[in-house]
Amino acid sequence: MESMKQETVQDSAIPHTPRVGVYICRCGGNISDVVDTDHVAEICRLIPGVAVSKVHTFMCSDPGQQTISDDIRQEKLDRVVVASCSPFLHELTFRGAVMRSKMNPYLYEHVNIREQCSWAHKHDPRGATAKAIQLISAAVGKLSHSTPLEKIRLPNHRRAMVVGGGPAGMKVAADLAACGIPVVLVERSDRLGGKLPILNRLFPNGQAATELAAKLESQVLSNPKIEVLLKSEVTTVSGFIGNFEVAIHGDFGPSGHATDIHTTVGVIVMATGFKPYVPTDGEFNFKRHPAVVTTVDFNALLSKQKGDARTFQFDGRCIRSIAFIHCVGSRQVDGVHTPAVDGRINTYCSRVCCTTVLNQALQVRQRFPDTRVYDLHQDIRTYGRGHEEYYTDASRAGVVFYRYHGQEPPEVTNTNGPTSPLRISVKDYLSWGEELEIEADMVVLAVGMTPGPCETLVDQLKLPRGEDRFLQEIHPKLRPVEISVNGVLLAGTSQAPMNIQETLAAAGAAAVKARAMFTTEEVELNPYVAEVDAHLCEGSGACLTQCEYDGALAMVEILQDGHTVRKAHVNAGLCVGCGACVAVCPTQAINVSGWRIDQYDAMVDGLVRDLTPTTI
Ligand SMILES: Cc1cc2nc3c(=O)[nH]c(=O)nc-3n(C[C@H](O)[C@H](O)[C@H](O)COP(=O)(O)OP(=O)(O)OC[C@H]3O[C@@H](n4cnc5c(N)ncnc54)[C@H](O)[C@@H]3O)c2cc1C
Repeated sequence: MESMKQETVQDSAIPHTPRVGVYICRCGGNISDVVDTDHVAEICRLIPGVAVSKVHTFMCSDPGQQTISDDIRQEKLDRVVVASCSPFLHELTFRGAVMRSKMNPYLYEHVNIREQCSWAHKHDPRGATAKAIQLISAAVGKLSHSTPLEKIRLPNHRRAMVVGGGPAGMKVAADLAACGIPVVLVERSDRLGGKLPILNRLFPNGQAATELAAKLESQVLSNPKIEVLLKSEVTTVSGFIGNFEVAIHGDFGPSGHATDIHTTVGVIVMATGFKPYVPTDGEFNFKRHPAVVTTVDFNALLSKQKGDARTFQFDGRCIRSIAFIHCVGSRQVDGVHTPAVDGRINTYCSRVCCTTVLNQALQVRQRFPDTRVYDLHQDIRTYGRGHEEYYTDASRAGVVFYRYHGQEPPEVTNTNGPTSPLRISVKDYLSWGEELEIEADMVVLAVGMTPGPCETLVDQLKLPRGEDRFLQEIHPKLRPVEISVNGVLLAGTSQAPMNIQETLAAAGAAAVKARAMFTTEEVELNPYVAEVDAHLCEGSGACLTQCEYDGALAMVEILQDGHTVRKAHVNAGLCVGCGACVAVCPTQAINVSGWRIDQYDAMVDGLVRDLTPTTI
């Protein structure tokens, strides 16, 4: 950890009067239609330290960035503010621009005057303009107290851990290993394949699930770069990107004895998959009547059908009618469905169930023409390429459709014992709300997906979950397989309900992202982490009590003036710069680099600086 940033004595002294360039973007009218950008530029010239203040139609364009570069050189600017759109979109663009002009990128501040001014106050142009000036003034104030910072550089262990050996985990492992990256694949069950072995003929191409499983498995098992650990689970994990310390418990000793393995990996891919929803006791007569089964059970029943019977067989009986009920455990409605143990209901759509039902219904109609099929749905959501055809084909094959409302799910009753038919009452909105009674020998519940088991990793790495309890990506479009913990990636249904095609696409994306993380021998982290002023620290330990990130802060003993004293020490790799420690330090010995208290003070001064002339 030699390369880790050491505690520094804070030095907020400003070496000279800064020369700040302020650049205001019109954003093609997105900003300037509301904010008077020319006026903002004019007023900003009055802010102490501002040497240049200009407006451009698109600051992010090449000419816009060139203007900044030229001014840095010609006007000898040493700090830059761009007031434009969200920093999420272009902060890095402008940091790059100033860096190319040999300026320290952390002497750049981004001000969002689009989302926070022109869009938020579109009916108040004067207010939006005044607010833009205040925000820029705050940024200039902060910059006046900024000092150059360097990225934190740490060693990068070129080895990945993939948790979960389903389709997603196998695909990530195979793709990474194909690029020469060693992988440890941790699977809690005694085999690879995830849910594939419990599936049958897969939509959308009718491929046997066993065949797909065998192909993926052979890619994994034939590559010596992949170490497969079955019957194994991660018991502890700590560390940060490039440096995760992991303990894995499993039956992989020479004689199959339970053993613990300790290893270091640079990247962790969460491919922990999903659990099919298990209906509660009595839900649609589940567990009360043997012929009420789930789509998972029905896959197994389909693959066990023997001979050339014209009727589906179950428990030695001919099944003359089957009713499929959609959305069991998905799209649940508050007040209608029973919450899970955590008090929540599953309001989300599980996305694969509609095509699964139609796939199964169609197979029944094609193989067992004397078995009638009823389909009770809220909506038919067969959204993928080649999926809608299942609906058309099922209709043509004689499947009878009924549509119910989510608030009025069908009721399944049985009063005459386990071999007698089930009675289904449904208010059918395809016939304008007619109340119908259907008799069926078997009921198949289209169960949805719930998140797979990964509590240890979630708790120890503090991985965020979404409202639906699946793991939450940083951004659904811009960073779809990354999670907010650096170095941890998502693959497949650990993130959301997906079919296999989507699962493998997401897994491929995670592998590419993981590979990109291994292109350098060191990992670079932003310098916004806590720093301790060893002279001010009195070792109270208050910071430790507030820190939520294991190992980010520790007390160390050092020799000072011939005495052994306790001081706080920051592990820059684990610190996320949240600032919780800053708030409780009794001697103000701890600060977050780039966001020090004197910078906040300067921002507040900037916000209240009286720059608003009577003309706006
Ligand atoms: C009834 C039904 C029918 C379906 N039919 C189709 C179909 O025809 N076509 C289609 O495209 N899709 C279908 N799907 C969807 C398909 O099952 C999923 O897309 C696919 O299984 C997702 O793969 P995965 O690797 O993300 O998850 P999974 O298949 O769930 O694999 C996850 C793996 O991770 C392991 N694991 C979990 N937690 C841990 C842990 N903490 N440590 C170690 N290992 C762990 C599990 O044991 C498992 O092996 C169907 C789904 C259902 C419910």
